[in-house]
Amino acid sequence: MNGPYPWPEGRRAGLCVTFDFDGESPMLWRRRDDPPHDVGELEQRRYGPRRGVRHVLAALERTGVRATFFVPGWIAGTYRGAVAEIHAAGHEIALHGWLHEPPAALGADELRTTLTRARDLLGDITGTAPAGYRSPSFSMPPDAFGTLAGLGLGYDSSLMGDDRPYLVDDVVEVPVDWATDDAVYYRYTGHSETRPPYGASVLYDAWLGELEGAREAGTLVNLTVHPWLSGRPARVLRLRELLETAKEFGDIWIGTAGELAAHHRAAGASHPASRQVGADSLGWPR
Ligand SMILES: [Zn+2]
Repeated sequence: MNGPYPWPEGRRAGLCVTFDFDGESPMLWRRRDDPPHDVGELEQRRYGPRRGVRHVLAALERTGVRATFFVPGWIAGTYRGAVAEIHAAGHEIALHGWLHEPPAALGADELRTTLTRARDLLGDITGTAPAGYRSPSFSMPPDAFGTLAGLGLGYDSSLMGDDRPYLVDDVVEVPVDWATDDAVYYRYTGHSETRPPYGASVLYDAWLGELEGAREAGTLVNLTVHPWLSGRPARVLRLRELLETAKEFGDIWIGTAGELAAHHRAAGASHPASRQVGADSLGWPR
């Protein structure tokens, strides 16, 4: 490592607050050949676009934090008003498949077709083409990077190969981490989980520790938050407190994944500390 990563505005660390605004779409994909009669989990997930997103938007407005929302096309079509509202509040809207299909489950043509359809719909709602993509379930075949570049997408936010942005061919990777994904703590649908969901204070403490570590090491904290999980009032309250604390630290740059990707392309990628890899080097060793 050759010196600290050059965060925007000379800050010590970075924070992206990202929402996977996917509601019931992961379940619609997973159970597409076997639709359940029971609406329990569907309704639990619909809480996100119906109510959770309102609580989340209020917390973001109160803290002045602008976030990135990764939205499957099907969700954008079904909850178009909510997506327009997110955009009007100044947040970034980016791609998350059409019906939350993991790209590794699709061929390259199918991936291109689903993303083109989603891109066109999101662009129709916001007036601008989305700049980035997050793979549903963080699954990513190496050749997906070529598909993203071919669609004019500048960044992906699905992999965990670094704790600062890096380049995969010409696509900026804004890395994620399971430890900063709320689903690991909160996902509880009453079916397969063997433990109750963690309390909001447990997650607050864990994520505060992530911020402290990032300030020490000069790295990125990229929160992955689901409105159907974290949109519940007690959880939003603690999330808001976390964002307030992050701002009070004063040395953390806070912005959207799209802004960070643009910064990386302009300034970060040429820094000696920056990593650059070919997508073909990511695959299984041969
Ligand atoms: Zn998702």
